[in-house]
Amino acid sequence: SVTIKDLHKSYGEVEVLKGIDINVSPGEVVCLIGPSGSGKSTLLRCVNLLETPNSGLIEVAGHSVTDPDVNIDKMRTNVGMVFQQFNLFSHLTVLENCTVAQIKVLKRSKAEAQKIALENLEKVGLADKSGRHPDQLSGGQQQRVAIARALSMDPQLMLFDEPTSALDPETVGDVLSIMRQLAAEGMTMIVVTHEMAFARDVADRVVFMDGGVVVEEGPAHEVIGNPQHQRTQLFLSRVL
Ligand code: ATP
Ligand code: MG
Repeated sequence: SVTIKDLHKSYGEVEVLKGIDINVSPGEVVCLIGPSGSGKSTLLRCVNLLETPNSGLIEVAGHSVTDPDVNIDKMRTNVGMVFQQFNLFSHLTVLENCTVAQIKVLKRSKAEAQKIALENLEKVGLADKSGRHPDQLSGGQQQRVAIARALSMDPQLMLFDEPTSALDPETVGDVLSIMRQLAAEGMTMIVVTHEMAFARDVADRVVFMDGGVVVEEGPAHEVIGNPQHQRTQLFLSRVL
C-alpha cells in the first residue's frame, strides 16, 4: 500500500506539488493522468526519493519514506521504477542488468540472483535474450528487460512513468500486456500514462492531476468515461 499525505514539492520559488493526497491499497492499480507539467513525474520521483519533498508524508508498505532517518537504499528496494527511457546499463548483458542490484543491494549470491533474473526474464518473454546487450534489442524488448530488472528486487510497489511513450507503436502492446499481467497477479502499481485504453481497462482508479493538485479521482471508467470537472473533460477531449 501507499499513503501520500499533503505532499509539497518546490523547485526554488516554484511550487510544483501543492498538497497531494493519494492512497493506494495493496494490489491496487492507480493510473495518474494529466497535462504536461502537472507534476506527475515529480510525484513518482518523490515516492522513491529521487526527489526530496518539502513537506508531507509518504508511506510505502507501512514504512515511512519521508522519515529523515530513512535508509534510502533499503526503501528503494521496496519500490521498482520503470522510466520512459529504459535506463539499462549498456555495457552489461540483459542477465547482468537484472542481477547487479540483487547482488550489490540485496546481497544475493550470483547463482541465486541469476535464477531469479531468469524467472523474471521468462515472465517478460525474454529469457532467450539473456546474453545480449541492450543495443541488440528493440525498444519494447529493452523496456521489458527494465521491468524484469525491477521485479527481480521483489518490490512491494511498482512505479511506471510513461513506460510506452518512447516506443515504436508495434512494441507498445507487448509492454502493456506485461503490465496487465502484473496487475492481474496483484502487484500494487502507480502508472503515469497517456494510454487511456490501458487506464480504462486495467486501472482500479484514475487520478487526474493539473497544476500540482489532484483535480479529480475515482474508478477508471467513471473518470475517463464521465469526468466531472471541466479541466478533466478538456484534457480527455484532447487525448482520447
Ligand atoms: P510531463 O507529462 O511533460 O512528463 P509531468 O506532469 O511529469 O509532465 P513534471 O516533470 O513533474 O511534470 O514537472 C512539473 C513541473 O516542475 C514543470 O513545470 C517542470 O518544469 C518543473 N520541474 C520538474 N523538474 C524540475 C527540476 N529538476 N528543476 C526545476 N523545475 C522542475
Ligand atoms: Mg513526466
